[in-house]
Amino acid sequence: MGNRGTLFQFDDIEMITNVYVINGMNFVFVIDTYLGPSIMEKIDLYIKDQFGNKPIFVINTHHDWDHIWGNCYFKSSLIIGHNLCVKNIKETGLKALEEFKKYIKGNVILTYPNVTFESKIKFEDEGIEIYHTPGHTNDSISIIDYHDKVLFAGDNVEEPKPYLNKENAEQYIKTLEEYLKLDVDIIIGGHTNVCNKSLIRKNIEYAQKLLNCE
Ligand SMILES: [Zn+2]
Repeated sequence: MGNRGTLFQFDDIEMITNVYVINGMNFVFVIDTYLGPSIMEKIDLYIKDQFGNKPIFVINTHHDWDHIWGNCYFKSSLIIGHNLCVKNIKETGLKALEEFKKYIKGNVILTYPNVTFESKIKFEDEGIEIYHTPGHTNDSISIIDYHDKVLFAGDNVEEPKPYLNKENAEQYIKTLEEYLKLDVDIIIGGHTNVCNKSLIRKNIEYAQKLLNCE
């Protein structure tokens, strides 16, 4: 791992799930908010303790429930997501909350990103770029930390193979091939351990097979 990122891994659902925190120069970035405010409160305490009172930017890699339920803890912060992320949470959020309620951590109030974008946002002084990387879902975004050469790819990369269907395989491959061109050494997914580009190649291979089978 680079020297300004902290990876929090949880295992309350059937797979490990990540929250990644980047201690920037003037801001702290919290990538994904997992299952609810009670866990985010602990992460917030850790941030205050380790990094001081820098303002926090929250980033949602996509709209799925296992990555957004802690948003409400940060309701007075800026929460960044793709504009389709808001639309998707509005369409599926309540249903998912009901369906997976046994996993809720704390008093979850569905909270949408309040800063949205179409293609990319760059924090020039922080060396952080957030950009649209459709694949796993149409609202998937990825975060590049140029300082640490880390790519946080959300659920676009998975071990051992990606969760996708034939309809989005083509777009998915395109996004992953773009990842390979990035000047990064470390790849982290929403549910992976710390990996490198070989995982991206493996995921592309799987998607190509899926695309080519009848
Ligand atoms: Zn997920």
